[in-house]
Amino acid sequence: MRHNSSTLMTAVVLAALVMLNGCTVNPVTGESQFTILSPSQEVALGEKNYQPYQQSQGGAYVVDPDLTLYVSGIGQKLAAVSDRPDLPYEFVVLNNPVPNAWALPGGKIALNTGLLVQLQDESQLAAVLGHEIVHAAARHSANQMTRSALLQAGVQVVGFATRDSAYGALAATGANLGAGAWQARYGRDQELEADSYGMEYMARAGYDPAGAVELQETFVRLSEGRRSNWLDGLFASHPPSRARVVANRAKAQQLAKGVRNRTAFQRAIARVKKDWPAYEKHQQALQAAGKKDYHQALALTEQAIRLQPREAHFWETKGHLLKSKQDSAGAVSAYSRAITHNPDYFSPYLSRGLLQKSLRRYQTAEQDLLRSQGYLPTQAASYHLGELAIRRDSRDQAISYFNAAAQGGGELGQAAQAQLVKLGAVAQ
Ligand SMILES: [Zn+2]
Repeated sequence: MRHNSSTLMTAVVLAALVMLNGCTVNPVTGESQFTILSPSQEVALGEKNYQPYQQSQGGAYVVDPDLTLYVSGIGQKLAAVSDRPDLPYEFVVLNNPVPNAWALPGGKIALNTGLLVQLQDESQLAAVLGHEIVHAAARHSANQMTRSALLQAGVQVVGFATRDSAYGALAATGANLGAGAWQARYGRDQELEADSYGMEYMARAGYDPAGAVELQETFVRLSEGRRSNWLDGLFASHPPSRARVVANRAKAQQLAKGVRNRTAFQRAIARVKKDWPAYEKHQQALQAAGKKDYHQALALTEQAIRLQPREAHFWETKGHLLKSKQDSAGAVSAYSRAITHNPDYFSPYLSRGLLQKSLRRYQTAEQDLLRSQGYLPTQAASYHLGELAIRRDSRDQAISYFNAAAQGGGELGQAAQAQLVKLGAVAQ
Protein backbone atom coordinates (compact mmCIF):
# COMPACT_ATOMS: atom_id res chain seq x y z
CA MET A 1 0.00 0.00 0.00
CA ARG A 2 1.27 3.44 -0.89
CA HIS A 3 1.71 5.94 1.86
CA ASN A 4 -0.06 9.19 1.27
CA SER A 5 -1.68 11.91 3.25
CA SER A 6 -5.03 10.16 3.51
CA THR A 7 -3.39 7.05 5.00
CA LEU A 8 -1.66 9.27 7.51
CA MET A 9 -4.96 11.00 8.28
CA THR A 10 -6.61 7.61 8.87
CA ALA A 11 -3.84 6.64 11.27
CA VAL A 12 -4.28 9.88 13.18
CA VAL A 13 -8.04 9.44 13.38
CA LEU A 14 -7.66 5.84 14.55
CA ALA A 15 -5.15 6.82 17.20
CA ALA A 16 -7.56 9.48 18.41
CA LEU A 17 -10.40 6.96 18.51
CA VAL A 18 -8.33 4.61 20.63
CA MET A 19 -7.63 7.39 23.09
CA LEU A 20 -11.30 8.34 23.22
CA ASN A 21 -12.91 4.97 23.77
CA GLY A 22 -10.03 2.52 23.62
CA CYS A 23 -10.30 1.05 27.09
CA THR A 24 -13.46 -0.97 27.61
CA VAL A 25 -14.59 -3.81 29.81
CA ASN A 26 -14.57 -7.34 28.42
CA PRO A 27 -18.26 -8.31 28.70
CA VAL A 28 -17.37 -11.95 29.41
CA THR A 29 -14.49 -11.72 31.88
CA GLY A 30 -15.13 -8.26 33.33
CA GLU A 31 -11.48 -7.35 32.71
CA SER A 32 -10.51 -4.18 30.89
CA GLN A 33 -9.35 -4.40 27.30
CA PHE A 34 -8.52 -2.25 24.34
CA THR A 35 -10.77 -1.71 21.36
CA ILE A 36 -11.60 1.15 19.02
CA LEU A 37 -14.95 -0.24 17.95
CA SER A 38 -18.09 0.66 19.85
CA PRO A 39 -20.60 -2.21 20.32
CA SER A 40 -22.83 -0.76 17.60
CA GLN A 41 -19.88 -0.42 15.22
CA GLU A 42 -19.02 -4.05 15.91
CA VAL A 43 -22.53 -5.18 15.04
CA ALA A 44 -22.52 -3.06 11.87
CA LEU A 45 -19.14 -4.44 10.82
CA GLY A 46 -20.27 -8.02 11.34
CA GLU A 47 -23.51 -7.44 9.45
CA LYS A 48 -21.79 -5.74 6.54
CA ASN A 49 -19.22 -8.47 6.09
CA TYR A 50 -21.14 -11.64 6.92
CA GLN A 51 -22.50 -12.25 3.42
CA PRO A 52 -19.32 -11.42 1.45
CA TYR A 53 -17.33 -13.58 3.85
CA GLN A 54 -19.64 -16.51 3.28
CA GLN A 55 -19.44 -15.97 -0.47
CA SER A 56 -15.66 -15.84 -0.50
CA GLN A 57 -15.48 -19.14 1.40
CA GLY A 58 -17.64 -21.40 -0.75
CA GLY A 59 -21.07 -19.97 0.01
CA ALA A 60 -23.79 -21.50 2.15
CA TYR A 61 -24.25 -25.26 2.13
CA VAL A 62 -27.65 -25.63 0.44
CA VAL A 63 -27.84 -29.32 -0.51
CA ASP A 64 -29.37 -29.99 2.92
CA PRO A 65 -30.81 -26.76 4.37
CA ASP A 66 -32.01 -28.65 7.46
CA LEU A 67 -28.39 -28.92 8.57
CA THR A 68 -28.07 -25.15 8.91
CA LEU A 69 -31.38 -25.04 10.82
CA TYR A 70 -30.07 -27.68 13.20
CA VAL A 71 -26.70 -25.97 13.78
CA SER A 72 -28.39 -22.61 14.12
CA GLY A 73 -30.83 -23.96 16.73
CA ILE A 74 -27.94 -25.18 18.90
CA GLY A 75 -26.01 -21.96 18.39
CA GLN A 76 -29.00 -19.85 19.48
CA LYS A 77 -29.49 -22.04 22.56
CA LEU A 78 -25.88 -21.39 23.60
CA ALA A 79 -26.00 -17.69 22.68
CA ALA A 80 -29.08 -17.24 24.88
CA VAL A 81 -27.09 -18.35 27.96
CA SER A 82 -23.95 -16.39 27.00
CA ASP A 83 -22.73 -13.17 28.58
CA ARG A 84 -24.11 -11.16 25.67
CA PRO A 85 -27.44 -12.74 24.73
CA ASP A 86 -28.51 -9.46 23.12
CA LEU A 87 -26.15 -9.66 20.11
CA PRO A 88 -27.83 -10.40 16.74
CA TYR A 89 -26.33 -13.90 16.49
CA GLU A 90 -26.52 -15.82 13.24
CA PHE A 91 -25.11 -19.22 12.33
CA VAL A 92 -24.46 -20.66 8.91
CA VAL A 93 -22.96 -23.88 7.53
CA LEU A 94 -20.55 -23.13 4.70
CA ASN A 95 -19.96 -25.38 1.70
CA ASN A 96 -16.26 -25.75 2.30
CA PRO A 97 -14.23 -28.93 2.90
CA VAL A 98 -11.56 -27.15 4.97
CA PRO A 99 -12.20 -27.78 8.67
CA ASN A 100 -12.85 -24.28 9.91
CA ALA A 101 -15.16 -22.10 11.97
CA TRP A 102 -15.13 -18.36 12.55
CA ALA A 103 -16.94 -15.51 14.26
CA LEU A 104 -17.23 -11.95 13.03
CA PRO A 105 -17.77 -9.15 15.53
CA GLY A 106 -21.39 -8.87 16.58
CA GLY A 107 -22.04 -12.64 16.66
CA LYS A 108 -22.00 -13.61 12.98
CA ILE A 109 -20.73 -17.18 13.07
CA ALA A 110 -19.92 -19.75 10.39
CA LEU A 111 -18.98 -23.41 10.43
CA ASN A 112 -17.64 -25.39 7.46
CA THR A 113 -18.99 -28.79 6.40
CA GLY A 114 -15.34 -29.92 6.57
CA LEU A 115 -15.36 -29.37 10.33
CA LEU A 116 -18.82 -30.84 10.92
CA VAL A 117 -17.86 -34.21 9.43
CA GLN A 118 -15.03 -34.47 11.99
CA LEU A 119 -17.41 -34.22 14.95
CA GLN A 120 -19.14 -37.09 16.74
CA ASP A 121 -22.00 -35.62 18.73
CA GLU A 122 -23.93 -32.51 19.66
CA SER A 123 -21.78 -31.69 22.69
CA GLN A 124 -18.69 -31.47 20.44
CA LEU A 125 -20.64 -29.21 18.09
CA ALA A 126 -21.70 -27.14 21.11
CA ALA A 127 -18.01 -26.88 22.04
CA VAL A 128 -17.18 -25.36 18.63
CA LEU A 129 -20.13 -22.97 18.72
CA GLY A 130 -19.64 -22.00 22.36
CA HIS A 131 -16.00 -21.20 21.62
CA GLU A 132 -16.93 -18.96 18.67
CA ILE A 133 -19.68 -17.27 20.68
CA VAL A 134 -17.09 -16.28 23.29
CA HIS A 135 -14.85 -14.79 20.60
CA ALA A 136 -17.79 -12.59 19.56
CA ALA A 137 -19.17 -11.91 23.04
CA ALA A 138 -15.78 -11.07 24.56
CA ARG A 139 -15.04 -8.81 21.59
CA HIS A 140 -11.89 -10.75 20.74
CA SER A 141 -12.15 -10.12 17.04
CA ALA A 142 -12.94 -6.45 17.52
CA ASN A 143 -9.89 -6.32 19.71
CA GLN A 144 -7.75 -8.10 17.20
CA MET A 145 -9.07 -5.88 14.44
CA THR A 146 -8.18 -2.84 16.48
CA ARG A 147 -4.58 -3.95 16.41
CA SER A 148 -4.47 -4.84 12.74
CA ALA A 149 -6.38 -1.64 11.91
CA LEU A 150 -3.72 0.37 13.65
CA LEU A 151 -1.04 -1.43 11.74
CA GLN A 152 -2.70 -1.04 8.39
CA ALA A 153 -4.26 2.34 9.09
CA GLY A 154 -7.56 1.28 7.63
CA VAL A 155 -10.43 -0.93 8.62
CA GLN A 156 -11.07 -2.55 5.29
CA VAL A 157 -12.29 -5.98 6.11
CA VAL A 158 -13.31 -7.61 2.88
CA GLY A 159 -11.16 -6.64 -0.03
CA PHE A 160 -11.02 -8.20 -3.43
CA ALA A 161 -10.72 -11.90 -3.76
CA THR A 162 -7.43 -12.17 -5.59
CA ARG A 163 -5.56 -15.18 -4.32
CA ASP A 164 -5.62 -18.34 -6.40
CA SER A 165 -7.86 -21.00 -5.03
CA ALA A 166 -7.82 -24.75 -5.06
CA TYR A 167 -8.73 -24.47 -8.73
CA GLY A 168 -5.05 -23.98 -9.53
CA ALA A 169 -4.66 -23.52 -13.25
CA LEU A 170 -8.42 -23.04 -13.55
CA ALA A 171 -8.39 -20.06 -11.23
CA ALA A 172 -8.10 -17.69 -14.16
CA THR A 173 -11.62 -18.65 -15.15
CA GLY A 174 -13.02 -16.80 -12.22
CA ALA A 175 -13.56 -18.87 -9.13
CA ASN A 176 -10.81 -17.17 -7.17
CA LEU A 177 -11.93 -17.85 -3.67
CA GLY A 178 -10.76 -15.60 -1.35
CA ALA A 179 -8.47 -14.36 0.63
CA GLY A 180 -7.53 -10.78 0.80
CA ALA A 181 -10.16 -11.09 3.49
CA TRP A 182 -9.20 -10.46 7.04
CA GLN A 183 -8.77 -13.60 9.05
CA ALA A 184 -8.84 -13.67 12.80
CA ARG A 185 -5.59 -14.58 14.52
CA TYR A 186 -6.39 -15.01 18.15
CA GLY A 187 -3.82 -14.98 20.91
CA ARG A 188 -3.15 -17.84 23.28
CA ASP A 189 -5.01 -16.14 26.12
CA GLN A 190 -8.01 -15.49 23.93
CA GLU A 191 -8.11 -19.15 22.92
CA LEU A 192 -8.02 -20.31 26.53
CA GLU A 193 -10.70 -17.76 27.42
CA ALA A 194 -12.91 -18.91 24.53
CA ASP A 195 -12.51 -22.56 25.57
CA SER A 196 -13.18 -21.92 29.25
CA TYR A 197 -16.23 -19.65 28.91
CA GLY A 198 -17.49 -21.69 25.97
CA MET A 199 -17.60 -24.68 28.31
CA GLU A 200 -19.57 -22.65 30.84
CA TYR A 201 -22.13 -21.90 28.14
CA MET A 202 -22.21 -25.60 27.21
CA ALA A 203 -22.95 -26.56 30.81
CA ARG A 204 -25.61 -23.85 31.14
CA ALA A 205 -27.30 -25.17 27.98
CA GLY A 206 -27.20 -28.72 29.37
CA TYR A 207 -24.32 -30.18 27.32
CA ASP A 208 -21.57 -32.42 28.60
CA PRO A 209 -18.43 -30.21 28.77
CA ALA A 210 -16.34 -33.32 28.05
CA GLY A 211 -17.20 -32.62 24.40
CA ALA A 212 -14.77 -29.67 24.52
CA VAL A 213 -11.97 -31.90 25.82
CA GLU A 214 -12.49 -34.43 23.04
CA LEU A 215 -12.67 -31.66 20.47
CA GLN A 216 -9.25 -30.36 21.54
CA GLU A 217 -7.83 -33.88 21.54
CA THR A 218 -9.09 -34.40 18.00
CA PHE A 219 -7.57 -31.09 16.93
CA VAL A 220 -4.19 -31.82 18.48
CA ARG A 221 -4.11 -35.26 16.86
CA LEU A 222 -5.02 -33.85 13.47
CA SER A 223 -2.62 -30.93 13.70
CA GLU A 224 0.20 -33.34 14.52
CA GLY A 225 -0.72 -35.16 11.31
CA ARG A 226 -0.05 -31.78 9.64
CA ARG A 227 -2.58 -31.97 6.92
CA SER A 228 -2.07 -28.68 5.19
CA ASN A 229 -5.74 -27.77 4.82
CA TRP A 230 -6.11 -28.09 8.57
CA LEU A 231 -3.23 -25.73 9.08
CA ASP A 232 -4.70 -23.21 6.67
CA GLY A 233 -8.10 -23.46 8.23
CA LEU A 234 -9.05 -23.76 11.83
CA PHE A 235 -5.56 -24.04 13.18
CA ALA A 236 -4.41 -20.77 11.70
CA SER A 237 -7.00 -18.83 13.69
CA HIS A 238 -7.43 -21.14 16.69
CA PRO A 239 -4.12 -22.94 17.26
CA PRO A 240 -4.66 -26.20 19.18
CA SER A 241 -2.30 -27.30 21.93
CA ARG A 242 -1.81 -29.85 24.66
CA ALA A 243 -2.12 -26.99 27.13
CA ARG A 244 -5.67 -26.42 25.94
CA VAL A 245 -6.50 -30.12 26.37
CA VAL A 246 -5.22 -30.00 29.94
CA ALA A 247 -7.03 -26.75 30.73
CA ASN A 248 -10.29 -28.06 29.27
CA ARG A 249 -10.05 -31.29 31.24
CA ALA A 250 -9.60 -29.37 34.50
CA LYS A 251 -12.48 -27.07 33.64
CA ALA A 252 -14.80 -29.98 32.74
CA GLN A 253 -14.27 -31.45 36.21
CA GLN A 254 -15.73 -28.30 37.78
CA LEU A 255 -18.86 -28.40 35.64
CA ALA A 256 -21.99 -30.53 35.71
CA LYS A 257 -22.21 -33.41 33.24
CA GLY A 258 -24.84 -33.03 30.55
CA VAL A 259 -26.16 -34.61 27.38
CA ARG A 260 -24.22 -35.75 24.30
CA ASN A 261 -27.12 -36.11 21.83
CA ARG A 262 -25.16 -38.34 19.52
CA THR A 263 -28.19 -39.73 17.70
CA ALA A 264 -29.67 -36.31 16.93
CA PHE A 265 -26.29 -35.10 15.69
CA GLN A 266 -25.65 -38.13 13.49
CA ARG A 267 -29.13 -37.80 12.02
CA ALA A 268 -28.54 -34.12 11.25
CA ILE A 269 -25.25 -34.69 9.45
CA ALA A 270 -26.29 -37.92 7.71
CA ARG A 271 -26.65 -36.25 4.30
CA VAL A 272 -23.29 -34.50 4.27
CA LYS A 273 -21.57 -37.59 5.68
CA LYS A 274 -23.13 -39.82 3.02
CA ASP A 275 -22.07 -37.32 0.34
CA TRP A 276 -18.55 -36.89 1.68
CA PRO A 277 -16.98 -39.35 -0.81
CA ALA A 278 -18.35 -37.10 -3.57
CA TYR A 279 -16.66 -34.04 -2.02
CA GLU A 280 -13.43 -36.02 -1.78
CA LYS A 281 -13.66 -36.94 -5.48
CA HIS A 282 -14.17 -33.26 -6.21
CA GLN A 283 -11.07 -32.32 -4.20
CA GLN A 284 -9.11 -34.91 -6.19
CA ALA A 285 -10.53 -33.45 -9.39
CA LEU A 286 -9.27 -29.99 -8.39
CA GLN A 287 -5.84 -31.40 -7.64
CA ALA A 288 -5.73 -33.15 -11.02
CA ALA A 289 -6.81 -29.90 -12.70
CA GLY A 290 -4.05 -28.10 -10.80
CA LYS A 291 -1.61 -30.49 -12.50
CA LYS A 292 -3.32 -29.80 -15.83
CA ASP A 293 -4.60 -33.36 -16.03
CA TYR A 294 -7.98 -32.18 -17.27
CA HIS A 295 -9.04 -35.57 -18.55
CA GLN A 296 -8.70 -37.17 -15.12
CA ALA A 297 -10.19 -34.10 -13.47
CA LEU A 298 -13.31 -34.33 -15.63
CA ALA A 299 -13.71 -38.05 -14.94
CA LEU A 300 -13.51 -37.42 -11.17
CA THR A 301 -15.93 -34.50 -11.39
CA GLU A 302 -18.43 -36.67 -13.28
CA GLN A 303 -18.15 -39.27 -10.51
CA ALA A 304 -18.79 -36.61 -7.88
CA ILE A 305 -21.85 -35.39 -9.80
CA ARG A 306 -23.22 -38.93 -10.06
CA LEU A 307 -22.96 -39.24 -6.28
CA GLN A 308 -24.58 -35.85 -5.56
CA PRO A 309 -26.12 -34.17 -8.64
CA ARG A 310 -27.43 -31.21 -6.63
CA GLU A 311 -24.00 -29.83 -5.64
CA ALA A 312 -23.37 -26.52 -7.43
CA HIS A 313 -19.58 -26.62 -6.86
CA PHE A 314 -19.30 -29.86 -8.84
CA TRP A 315 -21.20 -28.38 -11.78
CA GLU A 316 -19.11 -25.25 -11.77
CA THR A 317 -15.90 -27.28 -11.86
CA LYS A 318 -17.35 -29.29 -14.73
CA GLY A 319 -17.97 -25.97 -16.48
CA HIS A 320 -14.32 -24.93 -16.00
CA LEU A 321 -13.12 -28.25 -17.38
CA LEU A 322 -15.38 -28.17 -20.43
CA LYS A 323 -14.26 -24.61 -21.07
CA SER A 324 -10.64 -25.72 -20.99
CA LYS A 325 -11.58 -28.28 -23.67
CA GLN A 326 -13.07 -25.48 -25.81
CA ASP A 327 -16.57 -26.91 -25.27
CA SER A 328 -18.23 -23.53 -24.71
CA ALA A 329 -21.82 -24.74 -25.07
CA GLY A 330 -21.21 -27.54 -22.58
CA ALA A 331 -19.49 -25.13 -20.19
CA VAL A 332 -22.34 -22.59 -20.32
CA SER A 333 -24.83 -25.33 -19.63
CA ALA A 334 -22.77 -26.70 -16.69
CA TYR A 335 -22.46 -23.21 -15.17
CA SER A 336 -26.21 -22.81 -15.58
CA ARG A 337 -26.78 -26.07 -13.70
CA ALA A 338 -24.56 -24.73 -10.89
CA ILE A 339 -26.70 -21.59 -10.75
CA THR A 340 -29.91 -23.63 -10.68
CA HIS A 341 -28.66 -25.59 -7.68
CA ASN A 342 -27.40 -22.54 -5.79
CA PRO A 343 -28.77 -19.27 -7.23
CA ASP A 344 -27.29 -17.25 -4.33
CA TYR A 345 -23.61 -17.86 -4.97
CA PHE A 346 -21.42 -15.42 -6.89
CA SER A 347 -18.96 -17.77 -8.52
CA PRO A 348 -20.98 -19.55 -11.26
CA TYR A 349 -22.39 -16.19 -12.39
CA LEU A 350 -18.86 -14.83 -12.64
CA SER A 351 -17.64 -17.89 -14.55
CA ARG A 352 -20.61 -17.87 -16.93
CA GLY A 353 -20.38 -14.10 -17.42
CA LEU A 354 -16.70 -14.23 -18.37
CA LEU A 355 -17.38 -17.05 -20.81
CA GLN A 356 -20.37 -15.24 -22.36
CA LYS A 357 -18.21 -12.16 -22.81
CA SER A 358 -15.53 -14.17 -24.63
CA LEU A 359 -18.34 -15.50 -26.86
CA ARG A 360 -19.33 -11.87 -27.59
CA ARG A 361 -22.72 -12.22 -25.91
CA TYR A 362 -22.23 -8.89 -24.22
CA GLN A 363 -25.66 -8.35 -22.74
CA THR A 364 -25.97 -11.69 -20.99
CA ALA A 365 -22.34 -11.37 -19.93
CA GLU A 366 -23.05 -8.05 -18.26
CA GLN A 367 -26.13 -9.42 -16.48
CA ASP A 368 -24.13 -12.33 -15.07
CA LEU A 369 -21.19 -10.19 -14.01
CA LEU A 370 -23.48 -7.70 -12.26
CA ARG A 371 -25.24 -10.54 -10.52
CA SER A 372 -21.93 -11.98 -9.27
CA GLN A 373 -20.78 -8.53 -8.19
CA GLY A 374 -23.96 -8.17 -6.10
CA TYR A 375 -22.95 -11.21 -4.03
CA LEU A 376 -19.21 -10.57 -3.90
CA PRO A 377 -17.26 -7.80 -5.62
CA THR A 378 -14.28 -9.31 -7.42
CA GLN A 379 -11.47 -7.82 -9.41
CA ALA A 380 -12.31 -9.97 -12.44
CA ALA A 381 -15.95 -8.85 -12.57
CA SER A 382 -14.93 -5.20 -12.07
CA TYR A 383 -12.38 -5.31 -14.87
CA HIS A 384 -14.63 -6.99 -17.40
CA LEU A 385 -17.62 -4.82 -16.50
CA GLY A 386 -15.28 -1.91 -17.23
CA GLU A 387 -14.58 -3.28 -20.70
CA LEU A 388 -18.29 -3.81 -21.29
CA ALA A 389 -18.99 -0.23 -20.15
CA ILE A 390 -16.51 1.03 -22.79
CA ARG A 391 -18.45 -0.91 -25.43
CA ARG A 392 -21.57 0.96 -24.32
CA ASP A 393 -19.68 4.30 -24.40
CA SER A 394 -20.25 4.74 -20.64
CA ARG A 395 -16.92 6.35 -19.86
CA ASP A 396 -17.73 7.27 -16.25
CA GLN A 397 -18.89 3.77 -15.40
CA ALA A 398 -15.84 2.29 -17.08
CA ILE A 399 -13.56 4.54 -15.02
CA SER A 400 -15.25 3.54 -11.81
CA TYR A 401 -14.98 -0.19 -12.62
CA PHE A 402 -11.32 0.12 -13.65
CA ASN A 403 -10.53 2.11 -10.53
CA ALA A 404 -11.97 -0.70 -8.44
CA ALA A 405 -10.09 -3.35 -10.45
CA ALA A 406 -6.83 -1.40 -10.22
CA GLN A 407 -6.94 -1.61 -6.41
CA GLY A 408 -6.66 -5.40 -6.59
CA GLY A 409 -3.14 -5.22 -8.03
CA GLY A 410 -1.59 -8.02 -10.06
CA GLU A 411 -1.92 -8.47 -13.81
CA LEU A 412 -5.55 -7.49 -13.95
CA GLY A 413 -4.81 -4.46 -11.79
CA GLN A 414 -2.13 -3.36 -14.26
CA ALA A 415 -4.51 -3.92 -17.18
CA ALA A 416 -7.09 -1.77 -15.40
CA GLN A 417 -4.44 0.88 -14.80
CA ALA A 418 -3.62 0.86 -18.52
CA GLN A 419 -7.30 1.25 -19.39
CA LEU A 420 -7.51 4.25 -17.06
CA VAL A 421 -4.58 5.85 -18.82
CA LYS A 422 -6.25 5.23 -22.19
CA LEU A 423 -9.44 6.82 -20.88
CA GLY A 424 -7.46 9.82 -19.67
CA ALA A 425 -8.35 9.15 -16.05
CA VAL A 426 -5.79 8.86 -13.29
CA ALA A 427 -6.27 6.10 -10.74
CA GLN A 428 -6.55 7.15 -7.13
ZN1 LIG B 1 -10.62 -19.57 18.82
